[in-house]
Amino acid sequence: MTDRYIVLGDNHGDTASLRHVLDDADGDSFDYAVHVGDFTRAWRTGRQEDDEQLGKRRGGEQLRAVEPLLERLDERAEHGLLWVYGNQDYFGDLPYGLTVGTEIPDDGRVTVGGQRFTNSPSAVAPDVVLVTHVEKWSLIDHFEGRAHFCGNTHRGRHRDRRLNSAFLKLTDPEDGETTYGGYFVVEVSESGPLDVECRPIGDLERRECDRHGERGVQFQPSTRDCMYCGDQRVLMREMSASAFYGLTVDNARTAVDDERLVAYAVELWNDPPEGFESAFEAYLADIETDRYAPLARTNDGQLTVAEQSYAY
Ligand SMILES: [Zn+2]
Ligand SMILES: [Zn+2]
Repeated sequence: MTDRYIVLGDNHGDTASLRHVLDDADGDSFDYAVHVGDFTRAWRTGRQEDDEQLGKRRGGEQLRAVEPLLERLDERAEHGLLWVYGNQDYFGDLPYGLTVGTEIPDDGRVTVGGQRFTNSPSAVAPDVVLVTHVEKWSLIDHFEGRAHFCGNTHRGRHRDRRLNSAFLKLTDPEDGETTYGGYFVVEVSESGPLDVECRPIGDLERRECDRHGERGVQFQPSTRDCMYCGDQRVLMREMSASAFYGLTVDNARTAVDDERLVAYAVELWNDPPEGFESAFEAYLADIETDRYAPLARTNDGQLTVAEQSYAY
């Protein structure tokens, strides 16, 4: 049994991109549609205007504006649209709530068309599809479900049974420049990797990095480098979270030492990029200077999950 999904997200209050997707996929048939969140740009507005209530009001208005397009998406898929809120949507803490399709629950699972879905990593089982807004670095090498769809980083990436769907529309917070991205058509079978087709509606291309190809195929605007070549910390955060999870998931351990973490992270590669081990050691030695680090030092100098770890 194979199901055909249309997967998209991160439209950030934009409606034109959703219209573009509906036109582009006209005549296609899907079993499921999945939106991974960031329907709005409420959080960004709240920050820019230094007024959270204003951001939330705008977010509520944006939800109302995108909902008719989501309804059309819902109609395109035999079993309808399933979705989660994103951080830009204050994870649903807005004055209006979407009523379209099925919100994927963060406690337990929901069954739609015979397929189980969850928003919670702890509710994953081999036949369950996980949909989260954030990437969940810990699962990158340890995902046991049928498929995992996410967004948030705006860096598309397919690896095995996981897909980050990049973005539909981005606005650069600095210069206000906008970029349209794309959506994905995904075949999900009971086992084995996802079959992923990237469909750009703007500037989004498939990229395989010579150095980092083992971490997956990327989908990025033509102006952007491989996400790991562009900023090595992206790789270090991901590897440290993934290695920590691997070392602690099946036991009661809550902290590990550097040596163990480095050895495990190296083992996650078939062929690590040149210099990976020493660069990773150096990153860990300085980990407290990285504000997005998934790990932090304990009082006795070991490594544990950071309290503010957004994407662990
Ligand atoms: Zn986003
Ligand atoms: Zn690279």
